Amino acid sequence: MPAAVKKLSQLGVPVDGYRLTGIRYIDGRRTAEAGFRDGEGCGMRRTDLHAALSAAVEAAGIPVLERSAERVEQDQDGVAVAGLRARYLAAADGLHSPVRRQLGLGISARSQPRYGLRQHYAVAPWTDLVEVHWGPDLEAYVTPLGPALVGVALLTSERAPYEAQLKEFPALVDRLPQSAATSTRGAGPLRQRSRARVAGRVLLVGDAAGYVDALTGEGISVGLASARALVECVAADRPGDYERRWLAASRRYRWITESLLEVRSHRAGARLIVPAAQRLPRVFGAAVNQLAK
Ligand SMILES: Cc1cc2nc3c(=O)[nH]c(=O)nc-3n(C[C@H](O)[C@H](O)[C@H](O)COP(=O)(O)OP(=O)(O)OC[C@H]3O[C@@H](n4cnc5c(N)ncnc54)[C@H](O)[C@@H]3O)c2cc1C
Repeated sequence: MPAAVKKLSQLGVPVDGYRLTGIRYIDGRRTAEAGFRDGEGCGMRRTDLHAALSAAVEAAGIPVLERSAERVEQDQDGVAVAGLRARYLAAADGLHSPVRRQLGLGISARSQPRYGLRQHYAVAPWTDLVEVHWGPDLEAYVTPLGPALVGVALLTSERAPYEAQLKEFPALVDRLPQSAATSTRGAGPLRQRSRARVAGRVLLVGDAAGYVDALTGEGISVGLASARALVECVAADRPGDYERRWLAASRRYRWITESLLEVRSHRAGARLIVPAAQRLPRVFGAAVNQLAK
């Protein structure tokens, strides 16, 4: 999303991917489109983004120690983990954060779990928009990644093979080569809740701090915004301020994504999403651009 592109550029991380100019919703018969008003998004493979982030860390002279964070122990003055001791620990250990679990901060989600499954296809993108194809029970989220590569992620509650679920979208299947260029990888359950972001000297950031869903493509942007807030709080030696800053940095994403998921959770509601976006282009455009900020 444009907000993540902007934040990565400010950090000196080159985002040289496929330029994305907006979002298109499709439900088989209808289409709604909204352009990004303030900057472009970028489609790039996660492995390329990771390489760019690693290079930026190295260029900044930040030492990287490849260790697994197991037991976390803290006292009044500091935190010890993986044989290191520091004043604070920023736990950026992902959706299923072992640190969050160890601190007893996780809250079990009551809603039906959703999963993300992704594949890449060697085909030229047919648009510079991210397409979200809405099915009755799942979405296919298509991202142009390069001159001859697109990514297709399925967001679903079904625990069935990727190929079987993709058949829900015949018009999309027609555009794709018969076999994918990579093997299926997945993540989930996507919704993860934490009762707090701060426990003493440990601060949760990124997906570890809590995640709603991949539907609105906001994870990286919210992660970067809250990482900045975390650094400012720690530098000021005011870790207690971070909870409020995280809530502010993630509020818009949580509100829009939760609302969309609530509508999508009822079959009748799901059928109305694309027609409503088509009939109310200004509202759709405003929602997309709230997320793009
Ligand atoms: C299908 C799908 C599509 C998505 N599409 C988008 C998109 O288009 N745009 C977007 O912005 N976001 C998207 N997201 C969300 C995005 O991937 C996440 O929000 C983002 O990767 C979170 O970054 P993170 O650093 O918090 O966690 P992660 O990227 O999960 O990184 C966590 C890291 O912690 C490491 N780790 C875990 N445990 C330990 C341990 N004990 N010790 C040491 N290290 C450990 C892991 O190995 C991993 O490297 C998508 C997610 C899914 C599932």
